[in-house]
Amino acid sequence: MKHSNNEGHYDAIVVGSGTCGATIAKELSRQNKKVLILERGGNAPLKESIMGYAKISNEVRVADKLKDLRAFTTGGTTAMYLAVADLPPIETFKNLGIDLTEDLEQARKELPVAEISDGLIGSQAKRLGESARQLGYDWEKKLMLVDQSKFNHKNYYEVKWKARTYVEDALRNGAILVNQATVSKAILDNKKAIGVEYYIGKKKKVFKAYGEKIILAAGSLASPIILKNSGLKNVVNHGFYINPSIGLIGKVPDLSSEENFCGCMGAKLDDDIELMDANFHRFLFNVGMLVSGKPLRIASYPKHIGITVKIKEPVGGELTENGKYHKELTDNDHRRLEKGMEVANEILKNAGARKIFKTDLISGGALGTIKIKEHIDEKLQTEYSNLYVCDGSILPENERITPTLTLVCLAKYLARNLATSL
Ligand SMILES: Cc1cc2nc3c(=O)[nH]c(=O)nc-3n(C[C@H](O)[C@H](O)[C@H](O)COP(=O)(O)OP(=O)(O)OC[C@H]3O[C@@H](n4cnc5c(N)ncnc54)[C@H](O)[C@@H]3O)c2cc1C
Repeated sequence: MKHSNNEGHYDAIVVGSGTCGATIAKELSRQNKKVLILERGGNAPLKESIMGYAKISNEVRVADKLKDLRAFTTGGTTAMYLAVADLPPIETFKNLGIDLTEDLEQARKELPVAEISDGLIGSQAKRLGESARQLGYDWEKKLMLVDQSKFNHKNYYEVKWKARTYVEDALRNGAILVNQATVSKAILDNKKAIGVEYYIGKKKKVFKAYGEKIILAAGSLASPIILKNSGLKNVVNHGFYINPSIGLIGKVPDLSSEENFCGCMGAKLDDDIELMDANFHRFLFNVGMLVSGKPLRIASYPKHIGITVKIKEPVGGELTENGKYHKELTDNDHRRLEKGMEVANEILKNAGARKIFKTDLISGGALGTIKIKEHIDEKLQTEYSNLYVCDGSILPENERITPTLTLVCLAKYLARNLATSL
């Protein structure tokens, strides 16, 4: 991939190379638009290893004792996601003036969106599903972004779709990628964005790049900060949501399993509580046990089963003046987490699990920091012309889907509109 400091003029400058940035860059460069991608992270080949994850992972505190995880690297957070792929809420977006129908059709043709076939579901996930269904829960398969045709029972990481493949397509189409480039703000000329300021590496040497269209796709926690630095003061004024989540893991003595596509099944309970299969494949399980202070469990990976409990909490919290995110969970949030854990515990015990423990509380994705129709219009443009936002920040609060497929569709939608105006 090409690395250079850029002084040219571009049709589009895309900030961030994650799900949205990669998709926009690919779509625009395919139509011969001159695209510059500025990516804060590095470009080392992705590897599922402790060192590999340590190099790219970045945690942001979003509530007391609760952090949101993201990845700084080419391809963004898809470098470490699970690849569960809920369908976009088409009607919700239609009501906001955004029709994603044709974008979804195209995305489904391009991407390997499917349920995991029965033969590839590991015995941990099967045992969990049988137990949940026996107890009357509607434990159903989820769609995933996994190329099952290339699966060889070892390459769990490789067969997940990652945004990096779209960056590679964009580069083949002539786009330019600059890694280690952190964008700090948009350059404005009379309420019109004409470029961005960014710095390279830790020395913070400042560069400028100019373009017709500036697209912020730096992720839901980074884009609002760039907007604030650019003079848009009211972003995050309604707060955000984090879908607080907790894992329950137990050991089933008579189980001996193949690995799993974590998240491939789950169930919705009432009270906005969701349970998800948390049968991680071996690498992620090992990381989880180290983080949870349970290293001795690593040796008996095949006997472990798990469930993630996730709740939909009300939007709230703030981005403080010094650039920190903060929200408080309510008693009702904790009550619903407890309720979900009771059901998860029941399912795990019924599956034969013992020595069940709970993980730390984590963020299930801090999203929704920017509102469509308030901070951006239905073209995803801010009050500054030619400055757009497209990433997890713009996902509406009423929909709490796993976001990746929706983000691909939103990015296609934006690129489609930009291509006609460029
Ligand atoms: C452990 C984990 C599991 C997940 N599992 C799933 C799942 O199963 N299904 C699902 O749909 N979603 C899942 N997600 C969430 C999903 O990966 C993200 O919601 C999605 O990738 C967000 O896309 P994005 O384009 O908004 O941002 P990102 O993919 O995070 O991309 C943002 C990019 O911008 C770069 N950047 C940041 N700041 C700057 C800056 N100032 N200048 C330049 N570049 C910058 C970053 O380095 C990054 O590359 C998971 C997330 C995690 C952490």
